[in-house]
Amino acid sequence: MSGPEIDYESVGLKVGLEIHQQLDVEHKLFCKCPAILDEGESVSITRYLRPTRSELGDVDPAALFEWRRGRFYDYQSPLKSSCLVEVDEEPPHSINYDALTVAVAVAMALNSQVFDEIHVMRKVVIDGSNTSGFQRTALIAVGGWLEVDGKKIPVETICLEEDAARKVGEEGARVVYRLDRLGIPLIEIATAPVIGSPDEARDVALAIGRLLRLTGRVKRGLGTIRQDLNVSIRGGAKTEIKGVQRLELIPKVVRYEVLRQLNLLRIKDELKLRGLSGEDVILDPVELTELLRGSKSRVLRRALESGGVILGLKLPKMKGLLGFEIAPGKRFGSEIADYVRFWAGAGGLIHSDELPGYGISFEELQAIYEALRADPERDAFIIVADEKHRALKALASAVERIKTAFNGVPEETRAANEDGTTRYLRPRPGAARMYPETDIPPVRITEDMLREAEKIKPEPLNVKLEKLTAKHGLSRELALEVISDPRLDLIEKLIEKHTRIPASIIASLFIVTLRGLKGKGVDIEVIPDERIEELVEAIERRVVAKEAAETILEEAAKNPEKNIDSIIETLGLKTVTEEEAIKIIDEIIKANIEEVKAKGQKAMGLIMGRVMEKLRGRMDGRKVSELVKKRLEHYSRPSPEKQQHLI
Ligand SMILES: [Zn+2]
Repeated sequence: MSGPEIDYESVGLKVGLEIHQQLDVEHKLFCKCPAILDEGESVSITRYLRPTRSELGDVDPAALFEWRRGRFYDYQSPLKSSCLVEVDEEPPHSINYDALTVAVAVAMALNSQVFDEIHVMRKVVIDGSNTSGFQRTALIAVGGWLEVDGKKIPVETICLEEDAARKVGEEGARVVYRLDRLGIPLIEIATAPVIGSPDEARDVALAIGRLLRLTGRVKRGLGTIRQDLNVSIRGGAKTEIKGVQRLELIPKVVRYEVLRQLNLLRIKDELKLRGLSGEDVILDPVELTELLRGSKSRVLRRALESGGVILGLKLPKMKGLLGFEIAPGKRFGSEIADYVRFWAGAGGLIHSDELPGYGISFEELQAIYEALRADPERDAFIIVADEKHRALKALASAVERIKTAFNGVPEETRAANEDGTTRYLRPRPGAARMYPETDIPPVRITEDMLREAEKIKPEPLNVKLEKLTAKHGLSRELALEVISDPRLDLIEKLIEKHTRIPASIIASLFIVTLRGLKGKGVDIEVIPDERIEELVEAIERRVVAKEAAETILEEAAKNPEKNIDSIIETLGLKTVTEEEAIKIIDEIIKANIEEVKAKGQKAMGLIMGRVMEKLRGRMDGRKVSELVKKRLEHYSRPSPEKQQHLI
């Protein structure tokens, strides 16, 4: 990222993490459906969610927001992985005991106080991701801590909850969800907001993820773990950023959010400096439809052709502020446009700091300034082109957002983009969103369950480290890398099982080969565990040389469903016997016999190069060189009688 490095301590950065991890258990949290994603046959149901008033007469602003957007939801209910519970036509069954045990084990490993009795609650959700309009969640434990790089990170809460339905499509007001994911047990771990730097946020997430994997009872792969971040700086506001799926993205998301808040604070100061207040932003739209009817701008023309209007709004003394960059590629204007899209359902807006542009000419720009009675040297404006009611709503939303700029950073829930920037998702939900789940009686945590949990509770890292070095002979350096690898449990399993291969070779497969591929941009996360296991078996059976691992794994990333034997077959990487190797070497020597006769052993480089083209990864390189040397000796000698002895 360009720009000066931020001093996170002096800006008062505080980050809290909320980690959601799917548990690897047989069935869902409140029914017996398998806890799997399922592309099989399904039936569809349509539902509408309506906001209701609470007993105090309040309407959750977030709920109202979704309702205003006029959305409706289609649910695909897969026959294999959903039942009447997921479609909310049958009360939930008793809680999944196995999932609860795993959650208790994690709580114990985090030094958390587990409750004697668990109460399932309903948490209102308003985005349609649950057919019932709420998510069931149970607080398992409070307090606790984990140590990351010598710092104690407090844990606030540990919950067991049902995963939401999976969004598979969205088109206008219609949102399509699939119910296979709904009800998959999730553990949610929330840390205190004590994290002080972007890298530390990643390290804490990494440490929690590792602890979860060490139970051997959590799902793995993209989408099975999701990180939410709470980010705030001094004078800013708590921003909740949802759904960061990749760990590597965390530092970037935090850094960009700090930058965004700092820049929003700068805008606040600048507004003050210019002597402006919220009252100067007035919703006083001016119709520009006729003025711009002849414009070459495609955006404007498209709106006009479908019967829309063009409205403009003057923003006094705000020149330059809408074009002010607040995060890479994101301007203050983009923040306003996000609001306009979400609250009004409009396509977006055009602001004066980006004009001339969008096909709007300099002359048209001058005419707009004139029509709005604005001063091109000082004022700014925005224009929207849409159906009249929507255009009006869009300007109203824009005014609302600009007014909050006078207070700096608004409290928002945002979503992470792939590039580390974020986008507006919705206002932060109201506080009182929890109600008791009346269908499920409280669950007692029994002595039996605590004993079971004790067995799942992961070993402390130092015990694991000791085992990898003392018992399996890994160097401390390699063992430390293994411990932080996402596939630690697989590495351990393979080392225990395939004792005929040195543990260091198995470990290097992950730490050197797979990470090397990742560095080359190969998506190694799609490679299923079973492929790696098959590869280790193939190396053990000597079907393939360990040198071929990189090529094979690269292919496995391209074709994750293809088994290792057929990959080896396709790539022609089957190991060769000494006899077969000699045959190949001899053929190459014969093809270059003049050279060999003339140069003798000095032809080694040439012949070795050609031979390795055929044998790379199929036989140990040193062995090949040994054989090539022998055969060269043989061929460069003039006496044919000795041939017999040499073979
Ligand atoms: Zn079910």
